[in-house]
Amino acid sequence: MTAIAPTPPVRRQLHTPQPPASPFPYNPGSLLSVQDLTIDDVSHLLFRATVLENLDPLIRDRILLKRRVALLFYESSTRTRTSFELAAKGLGADTTLVSSLSSSIEKGETLKDTGLTLRALGAEAIILRHNSSGAPWLLEEVTRLPILNAGDGMHEHPTQALLDLRTILAHLRYGVETLTAETLNGVTVTIVGDILHSRVARSNMMLLPRLGARVVLCGPPQLLPDSAVNAGAGISVERDFETALRQSQVVMMLRIQAERLAGMQLDLAQYKDAYQLTGQRLAAQAPNAVVMHPGPIIRGLELTAGVADGAQSAILEQVRHGVAIRMAVVERALTKTGKEGHA
Ligand code: ASP
Repeated sequence: MTAIAPTPPVRRQLHTPQPPASPFPYNPGSLLSVQDLTIDDVSHLLFRATVLENLDPLIRDRILLKRRVALLFYESSTRTRTSFELAAKGLGADTTLVSSLSSSIEKGETLKDTGLTLRALGAEAIILRHNSSGAPWLLEEVTRLPILNAGDGMHEHPTQALLDLRTILAHLRYGVETLTAETLNGVTVTIVGDILHSRVARSNMMLLPRLGARVVLCGPPQLLPDSAVNAGAGISVERDFETALRQSQVVMMLRIQAERLAGMQLDLAQYKDAYQLTGQRLAAQAPNAVVMHPGPIIRGLELTAGVADGAQSAILEQVRHGVAIRMAVVERALTKTGKEGHA
């Protein structure tokens, strides 16, 4: 009798179809999350930011001459919107702004239909800010265009994390071009305040520890739940602001996001007492730290006017770095095909 040998398990495993890897991003030019970027990708973006910043504007504006970029904003914005627009225009692209307050969005048009309309109008990339977490993924799925996440709900703000990184490097590790998992070894970045609602905090928490930084989260339980202790490797929680400040080379202050508090009661006097960055606190605990804030700042709440305007403040530098970073990200959106070896 001829015995039929059973297929060895190892062979069967080889032939078992694997679940498909996440399809996102569909478009290689998209930037939906900092998680989608390798450390090499980040290095390359920082490198391009510097190259583009230093290029003669008359040469730079041929890079994306007449390419079409749409900005689709469902939430208000000053820095992100303006810097994305200046970045795209600085590369020669034509830009158009669609804002939820002055478009058919007000009449009830869905994100999907607005996205398809922009594509039909010739948009080659869409920069999206949306109040719902995950909206950029949906827009990418329906349009298949390069989508740049300019902040989605309480989820992510990848270009803010990149410009924050550029600011930190400019202050602490001047001249670093090739990033590694050790570049920020020995650097403690404390993020203070409304971490629960902050997409800026989330994107920075995803990026900075991958480069060796230690991230300390500091705030009251309402704005920084105990569960944050499990936020990931390299991230810890310190409730006492003075203790956190003493360890910090970088202090990132956050605005209390009143628009997302959803009925949460917060005693502002108590908050300021415990967490406001004052000149006195800074001088006593972190006289050499770099003070950052993604903006908009609320003077007299999360920090005093003296600190915002003081010598340690890098807040306006962050804004300047935003234009260079967004030039690199917009360039990548419109030139990356997925076939090249690098970002
Ligand atoms: N501008 C930042 C953001 O869009 C921070 C803030 O709004 O407080 O998330």
